[in-house]
Amino acid sequence: MSADAPTPPTALDLAAAVRDGRTTAERAVRDALDRIDALNPRLNAFVQVFAERAIDDARALDARLRAGGRAGPLAGVPVAVKDNLCLAHGRTTCASRMLEAYESPFTATAVQRLIDAGAIVVGKTNLDEFAMGSSCEFSVFGPTRNPWDESRVPGGSSGGSAAAVAAGMVPLALGSDTGGSIRQPAGFCGVVGMKPTYGRISRWGLVAFASSLDQVGPFARTVGDCALALSIMAGRDPLDATCCDRPAEDFAARLDEPVRPLRIAIPRQARGGGVEGGGGNHAAVGAALEAAAAALAERGAEVVEVDLPHAEHAVAAYYIVAAAEASANLARFDGVRYGRRAALREGDSLEDLYRRSRTEGFGEEVRRRILLGTHVLSSGYQDRYYLTALRARRRIKEDFDRAFEAGASAVLMPTSPAPPFRLGEKTDDPLALYLEDVYTVGVNLAGLPAIALPAGTAMLDGRALPVGVQLIAPAFGEARLLRIAHELEAALAFNARHAPDEPRP
Ligand code: GLN
Repeated sequence: MSADAPTPPTALDLAAAVRDGRTTAERAVRDALDRIDALNPRLNAFVQVFAERAIDDARALDARLRAGGRAGPLAGVPVAVKDNLCLAHGRTTCASRMLEAYESPFTATAVQRLIDAGAIVVGKTNLDEFAMGSSCEFSVFGPTRNPWDESRVPGGSSGGSAAAVAAGMVPLALGSDTGGSIRQPAGFCGVVGMKPTYGRISRWGLVAFASSLDQVGPFARTVGDCALALSIMAGRDPLDATCCDRPAEDFAARLDEPVRPLRIAIPRQARGGGVEGGGGNHAAVGAALEAAAAALAERGAEVVEVDLPHAEHAVAAYYIVAAAEASANLARFDGVRYGRRAALREGDSLEDLYRRSRTEGFGEEVRRRILLGTHVLSSGYQDRYYLTALRARRRIKEDFDRAFEAGASAVLMPTSPAPPFRLGEKTDDPLALYLEDVYTVGVNLAGLPAIALPAGTAMLDGRALPVGVQLIAPAFGEARLLRIAHELEAALAFNARHAPDEPRP
């Protein structure tokens, strides 16, 4: 799309048009597939595209609608699914050699609920292997590129989904957020991305990384589309015992009603000081944060500063807890029960087979996490690392609780300390990559809902790149969080913009 081309329709508008007969599901799906064909060779956002199947599904839906069938709230909307969510067709690879041939016998609950609402899955999107990473470079399929500037990363781990929405390939995509993997790429790609409260959406069929942190969530170009997707996906699932038992809510219903009084709290630590290892925020990140605060203040919000004194421990605590849980979750991929099996050699013991299958199947970053996780759980170190990290986790949560008890309607922070970096810039420096997560991982440790949206731009090498901010609310406060985000979105009017049609190489 050139600068003056119309913005592609939102999921809400598209479903309404399909429902009213102004367009068809087949048209919507073909448009998505055309755009994927045109841009995916450059961006590598999709790792599988189900062109024929998606067109068949769309035609079947159109036929049902013509016969007077009921149109779901996502009727005919093409959606993309991160490739760590199981789907009963195609492969579910987690962008890992270990699962490159894995065909799931079932579909994840979150995905199934979208399908039941009329959505059409057009493909699976790229990610950092097993969702471990912040740049979408650690993938057996190669990196995804940022649609705003192809020399830069889209963020990660859900970089494929973020890029697919930013490039206008699909209006809606799913990701998972264990430690920022929806919000950071949303920020890097200039789209809206939501991590719901832990337990809001079923994790059934999401390949487990760190089970006490993982949450499924949507990417879209508007807060309204995220609200719609959340309403459809949320709610009890007998297949996930950690999924909450709350009645379904229509999160999209009262979006236009401003929250009043509105008190927005900015953590002192998020203004760039007091962050562990951090050299402060990039100027454009600081500017976006202040612009978001000013836009809300202008509409009558009270903007206050809060102290999250334990935020500085978030990265350390997260990388211990997440690695510990990952080491346990990934133990199942041994080449015998699950995962790619190495060729058996003469004289191999079972132990040799496990070792070789895991060495060949897992990439370097995943192996690093498994080793780290095994270490922090091992006897003698468990107290020193794992239990200490759990204590920090509690303190981090209590910091947020205090801010909300003191009257904050939402906490406002950047999604990351700097704009999108160049491909390859941080691949050899794991610690630098981990520090990218300084603003996102605390939310996962505390189990809170948060939504990232674009709030500004950074000029890098003469190119405009999006800069995101996030709003964070108390657990299960999504309804209010979305209303605040909707107001901020209107005040900033950023979502009318989209990535350039011809991503610059
Ligand atoms: N950067 C985080 C990590 O590497 C992202 C994890 C996630 O949210 N999936 O662990």
